[in-house]
Order: sequence, then structure tokens, then C-alpha cells
Amino acid sequence: MELTGRNALVTGGSRGIGRAVCLELARQGANVAINYAGSAQAAEEVAQACRELGVEAFAIQANVADAAAVDAMVKEVITRLGRIDILVNNAGITKDRLALQMKEEEFDAVLDTNLKGAFLCMKAVYRPMMKQRYGRVVNLTSIVGLRGNPGQANYAASKAGLIGMSKSIAKELASRGVTVNLVAPGFIDTDMTAALPEAARTALLSSIPMARLGQPEDVARAVAFFASENAGYITGQVLCVDGGMAV
Ligand code: NAP
Repeated sequence: MELTGRNALVTGGSRGIGRAVCLELARQGANVAINYAGSAQAAEEVAQACRELGVEAFAIQANVADAAAVDAMVKEVITRLGRIDILVNNAGITKDRLALQMKEEEFDAVLDTNLKGAFLCMKAVYRPMMKQRYGRVVNLTSIVGLRGNPGQANYAASKAGLIGMSKSIAKELASRGVTVNLVAPGFIDTDMTAALPEAARTALLSSIPMARLGQPEDVARAVAFFASENAGYITGQVLCVDGGMAV
């Protein structure tokens, strides 16, 4: 199997895209640490499903926006698995509102989780990956970070920021055998998009050339590609998984 013997940490692995990523990495043979914020039971179920695929897996709670919690999480994962080969920064939130009405707290919360959270996780694995001269970091951005979207100034800023940050760290770590790439999903069928009003869903659907929502597994397969040996000469890239939406 492609990822046998590799160890992965997936943030926000309890639900949606993160859950599908955990299962895909496990299916390909990787051991998986499944981070979550509040959904302990869901994360434990993902861990159990991964173990049933024959790999080591466990759930681990940490708010990715909290530096001390992230450092403790990364330490514990390294203690339990030996090392981290793959980091998937998937944890993310939305707090949508027109910029005119957006509260400062809503802006900060989205930036803290989506952008600072990914920074803290990358910082925590930076030295260990550099020392082991191997690493695969995959960050979940969004086509909203490339194109903008009304009502999502905070979210678009966090996802566009993630692209610039990832490209910078990709350049810092390229000579050390560590790659940093991004997957940009379009409109994927998860709790995050289920919260959208029906009118917004209909409008979004009509903008997808493939005329269907993506499934979390569509995204997970792209993440697993960047996490694999096969992607060893690719870094700093954004791959859209969006049914043609951003074309
Ligand atoms: P989701 O179903 O809402 O799941 C979000 C995940 O993030 C959950 O596992 C949640 O954990 C975790 N999380 C949230 N805040 C956290 C924090 N502070 N610390 C640790 N974990 C936290 O989201 P999704 O739709 O799967 O999206 C996953 C990623 O893809 C996000 O980065 C999102 O921006 C991106 N994306 C999604 C779409 C889409 O259409 N769905 C499109 C483009 C990009 P709990 O379960 O414990 O709350």
C-alpha cells in the first residue's frame, strides 16, 4: 500500500472532509492521529473505522488556534507514533456575514482557526520534519480563497492567507525533503455547506460545470496524492477539486 508505515496527523478529522481524509490515508496504510475540537465521539468512531482498516489510529483533542494545545498535541502524537510524516491542516470554520455587518470577533475567530491554526501546526512539526528530512504537509484552502465570495470576507482572507503562507513555508523547507501543498475544494457535501440557505445552495450548484456537489472522498483522494511518495517533486501548489467551478 502506498502509505504503509507512514504516520499522519489530520486536524479536524472528526467530520466531513477531514474524516474522509483519515479513512483514505488509513486505507492506503498510514497510521492516523485524528484531531478534533469538540466532537469526541465522532472522532473516536473515525479512529475505530481506521483501526478496522488495519492501522494504528487514535483521536486527540486540541483547539488548533491554541499554541500550547497544538504543541502538546504534536508532542503526544510523536510519542505515540514515533514521528509525523504527514500533516493535514483541515480544521476550519465559517462565520459568514456581509463585511458591513461582520463583527470583529467573527473576523478574528475565522482567521484564528483557519490561518493561525494551520501556522501553529506547521510550526510544531517544522523542526521534527526538517530533522527527519521528510515531510508531507497538505493544507485545505478553498476556491473562495482564490476567487472571493460575498459574505465570506473573513473566510476568503483566511484561505487566501493560507496559500501565501504555505508557498512561503514550501520554499523554506523544499531542500529538506518536506513538501507543502494545498487542496482547494469547491462545494463539498458536509456539515459546513449543509448550513447554507437553500437559495445559496441552488445558486452555487448552478455554477458547477459537473452539476453536482463534491463528496468528501473526492477531496480526500487529492490530499492522499500530495501525501504520497509520488508527489515528492511537487511543492507550493494548489489543486482545485471543484467539478470545474473555478475554471
Ligand atoms: P466541517 O464538516 O464543518 O468539519 C470541520 C472540522 O474541523 C471538524 O472536524 C471540527 O471538529 C474541526 N474544527 C473546527 N474548529 C476547530 C478547532 N479550533 N480545532 C480543531 N478542530 C476544529 O468542515 P468541512 O466542510 O469538512 O471542511 C473541512 C475543511 O475544508 C475546512 O478547512 C474548510 O474550510 C475546507 N473547505 C470545505 C469546503 C466545503 O464545501 N465543505 C469547501 C472548501 C474548503 P469538531 O467536529 O470537533 O467540531
